[in-house]
Amino acid sequence: MNDKDIEKVLNFLREYQDLYGNNLFVDRERIESIAGEFPDLPGEPNTKPSKPVAKVREKKMTKPADSPLWNFKRKIENCKNCALGNTRTKFVFGSGSEHADIMFIGEAPGAEEDRTGIPFVGRAGKLLDRLLAQIQLKRDDIFIANILKCRPPNNRDPLPDEVAQCIPYLHRQIELIQPKVIVALGRIAAQNLLRSTASLKQMRGRLWQYRGVDMIVTYHPAAILRNAGLLTVATEDFKFIRETYREILKRQN
Ligand code: SF4
Repeated sequence: MNDKDIEKVLNFLREYQDLYGNNLFVDRERIESIAGEFPDLPGEPNTKPSKPVAKVREKKMTKPADSPLWNFKRKIENCKNCALGNTRTKFVFGSGSEHADIMFIGEAPGAEEDRTGIPFVGRAGKLLDRLLAQIQLKRDDIFIANILKCRPPNNRDPLPDEVAQCIPYLHRQIELIQPKVIVALGRIAAQNLLRSTASLKQMRGRLWQYRGVDMIVTYHPAAILRNAGLLTVATEDFKFIRETYREILKRQN
């Protein structure tokens, strides 16, 4: 492998890390699939049968250069359609699988997300990972994004005109990902998506529709960190997510 090839591989990994976050480096299947894209990479030969790997690649591994979602990110990542474009550190597009059946939507990036460009990192992100694990999901099984792609100063609530400017990007993400279930994380996200002033308690525990997709509302992990009593309720909500998703799959088969 010459320097040019190594740089090519590094760029490829950087682009995927940008899209999928650090989950890329803990997913053996994905690493094997990437290695399959570069057969002359040094290391152990791939002893797995080729068919399953090819299947994974077909389902998940669209190359960034050919990916409509990735191309869309590149198109909008320098957006300054609202004032938040001037105060953000990093644009936070979202991360996960572009073929995800379940899409989680929060309200806006916080300080850590603004710093890293990755949604739901830090303590709230870890709690989200635990809740996902309880229903046998990982970050790279889902796609996670926010209504706003840039951080509002001091984590204030998104302003109506910021939402109006930014939400078309979320709508395009939904069109490209085509999830079967959407999960709104937190009151602000749910109220903005449903154009409602109802409390989270009133919105959770039932099925809504958002842009033709079944939607479930649950607590934002940061709210659960502030009030541990909400964990039991959130756990029920995540079971509801799992059951709803299973039902949808059953209906489709
Ligand atoms: S919040 Fe959305 S609309 Fe405003 S600058 Fe960022 S990407 Fe553009």
